Amino acid sequence: MDQQTTSALLYLDGITVSFDGFRALNELSFIIEPGEMRAIIGPNGAGKTTMMDVVTGKTRPDAGDVFFEQGSFDLSKLDETEIAELGIGRKFQKPTVFDMHTVEDNLLLALKNDRRVRRTLFWETSSEQEARIDAILGTIRLRPLRRRVAGSLSHGQKQWLEIGMLLAQDPKLLLVDEPVAGMTDVETMQTAELLKEINRDRTVVVVEHDMAFVRELGVKVTCLHEGSVLAEGTIDQVSENERVVEVYLGR
Ligand code: ADP
Ligand code: MG
Repeated sequence: MDQQTTSALLYLDGITVSFDGFRALNELSFIIEPGEMRAIIGPNGAGKTTMMDVVTGKTRPDAGDVFFEQGSFDLSKLDETEIAELGIGRKFQKPTVFDMHTVEDNLLLALKNDRRVRRTLFWETSSEQEARIDAILGTIRLRPLRRRVAGSLSHGQKQWLEIGMLLAQDPKLLLVDEPVAGMTDVETMQTAELLKEINRDRTVVVVEHDMAFVRELGVKVTCLHEGSVLAEGTIDQVSENERVVEVYLGR
């Protein structure tokens, strides 16, 4: 294992995934450093969601390596539950909150699923739980709406609640797929703030098409195309890249 593998939180090397001979990922390689937030952009079908499927164990790569935590874990050998227990949390495109339950009950349910609980005999006291829920409510900006049923939230607020449910699992690495799709401009900018706040304690990989949002994040950007990295750098470097303009931004 080389120097880069050993410092990386997440290390993808030469990942290939084929569906009926079509290469959704084609020798994809990139590295996420501990504490980093990375934005992933790229046209539809570039392989962004498939990349998350590989990291979370939903899809097995046909070839390549996926290492987590300085090379300590080979994710391609673990199943989805084992990977979640290592501290990798994922938010899908569609929110899956329980509409009939209140905001705080949704968080409580998520907390009871905490990946650490399964490893310990004793559960936190209810006041500890309440403190954690309150902290999460603050982060996701839903403290004033804690007693509302989730079904009555706006689309954007539901997305935040789902991010909160992920935080209840206390992940080291958060994978977030298109969080601002369908949000208002104000919600979009608030989501950028929220993720920046979360990134103070956790590593974040966020897939998003909204370039104003990506610019607001102000982090390193990776552009995928046809299952591999087309360009990587600051938002300005990537948006000035001729190939990126050609296959993605210029359309
Ligand atoms: P993105 O998230 O960047 O839009 P995806 O990772 O969803 O792209 O898809 C990459 C390519 O792989 C697409 O052409 C898609 O149709 C194909 N694909 C993804 N999942 C499957 C699957 N389970 N079976 C067949 N093809 C798939
Ligand atoms: Mg996708």
